[in-house]
Amino acid sequence: MAEETKKCAHPACICPAEPGSNYCSTSCREAKDTIEISCNCGHPGCELAASAA
Ligand SMILES: [Zn+2]
Ligand SMILES: [Zn+2]
Repeated sequence: MAEETKKCAHPACICPAEPGSNYCSTSCREAKDTIEISCNCGHPGCELAASAA
C-alpha cells in the first residue's frame, strides 16, 4: 500500500508501470531498444496524451 507507482520507463509513455516492472506492457519493454515517438502500449489515453504534448 505504501508502494509508489512508477511511471513506465518508455519515454513516450505516460502509463503507470506494472508492479515489479519498469514498463507498463511488453510493447514498451521491447520498444526500449528503439526510440519511439509514440507509444504502442494500447492503453487508453496514452496516445492521446503523447500527441497533446
Ligand atoms: Zn503507453
Ligand atoms: Zn508504457
